[in-house]
Amino acid sequence: MGSFAGKRGLIFGVANKNSIAWGIAQALAEEGAELGFSYAGAFLEKRVMPLAEQVGSRFVEECDVTDDGAIDELFEKVGDQFGNLDFLVHSIAFAPREDLGGRFVDTSREGFRVALDISCYSLVALAKRAVPLMPEGGSIMAMTYYGAEKVTPNYNVMGVAKAALEATVRYLAWDLGADQVRVNAISAGPIKTLASAGVSGFRKSLGYVGSVAPMGNVTQADVGNAARFLLGDWAQKVTGEVVYVDGGYNIMGAPDLDAVGG
Ligand code: NAD
Repeated sequence: MGSFAGKRGLIFGVANKNSIAWGIAQALAEEGAELGFSYAGAFLEKRVMPLAEQVGSRFVEECDVTDDGAIDELFEKVGDQFGNLDFLVHSIAFAPREDLGGRFVDTSREGFRVALDISCYSLVALAKRAVPLMPEGGSIMAMTYYGAEKVTPNYNVMGVAKAALEATVRYLAWDLGADQVRVNAISAGPIKTLASAGVSGFRKSLGYVGSVAPMGNVTQADVGNAARFLLGDWAQKVTGEVVYVDGGYNIMGAPDLDAVGG
């Protein structure tokens, strides 16, 4: 029996088999978790349904996290059809493509608003609805990136959104500690996905990080493995943390110039 036998959780952010959320889902399913999925946009249904079937999920619902009414409806269905929750995974981000390249100073007001709404506020909106379904306590996890802390050219407004997301994790952890609900984030190294492909120069930065990090690049499965810990009982008093799954990239002060050809 896996360490998630008898545990039930909702996963937001599977778009296709390359999604980090899918790596997390597979790891939790291997541990015996019962999973529900929520995806954005009807066009993704044909991609998400077969994946959900692979892990025996009986709950797959569309929800655009910019729409409070849609989130309310979703959680009503979760309560009625899926039941109480032990964990929730937020693996969602979006910024207009034109704001993921060029100069940060050119970020539009609307691009900034959209990025922060979808990539950060949505965690608050989902946590608020999830907590009443976690009467025995639970664990909430979000995905972040090093660009929240240090300037990463082209990541631009998404770096600002991730900084806000990491602060949001800490404020939620404070609020929800009394409910025995933990809130943490994983800061993953770059991984080729639909979202990361939208960041200008992503391929080069994947290669660079791979050559600088002590353990090279990471995979969706690496993130899934860390999620087994953070979402499970072994992390019982771990809350408000950002855990790096980045092959050690964040500890480096300078690259090995021989390796990167500097
Ligand atoms: P992805 O494109 O597979 O996942 C992003 C998800 O966000 C998609 O499923 C998309 O449908 C969803 N989404 C976008 N707008 C939405 C909305 N309005 N409502 C609901 N869902 C919406 O890409 P990914 O790389 O797996 O991204 C998952 C998370 O991991 C994101 O938070 C991303 O910033 C983070 N992350 C990614 C990397 C990387 O290099 N890929 C590194 C660190 C952190």
